[in-house]
Amino acid sequence: MTTAEDCLFCQIVAGEIPGDVVLSTDRVVAFRDVAPVAPTHVLVVPREHASDAAATAAADTALVGDLVAAAAEVAAADGLDDYRLVFNTGAGVGQSVFHTHLHVLGGRAMTWPPG
Ligand code: 5GP
Repeated sequence: MTTAEDCLFCQIVAGEIPGDVVLSTDRVVAFRDVAPVAPTHVLVVPREHASDAAATAAADTALVGDLVAAAAEVAAADGLDDYRLVFNTGAGVGQSVFHTHLHVLGGRAMTWPPG
């Protein structure tokens, strides 16, 4: 299990490793994905470490709302009316970093269902 001590996104939040930060509040930080899959691909993360969105909700329900509100700000700043928000939860659906993060994806056409 990833702990705050060995967590990549905790290190970005702390400024210990570089991130292309686009929004920062006392509760959340948003930075551009290092391997974008859309013209806008931003990750919105809570400053407080938790492994996934459900764990964040269990610890602080309002913090999930803060993530979504920040995502809307990020999308607006990039001029997006339409965008997709994704919480991958579990390795089986593609979660690879076990610090809660909300993907903000936009700037190209997308299909549904996702792969
Ligand atoms: P997941 O697959 O867990 O839902 O998403 C993790 C995301 O983190 C991936 O889209 C991946 O490209 C991104 N990522 C992994 N390492 C780094 C990094 O060091 N910096 C940034 N900005 N993004 C990263």
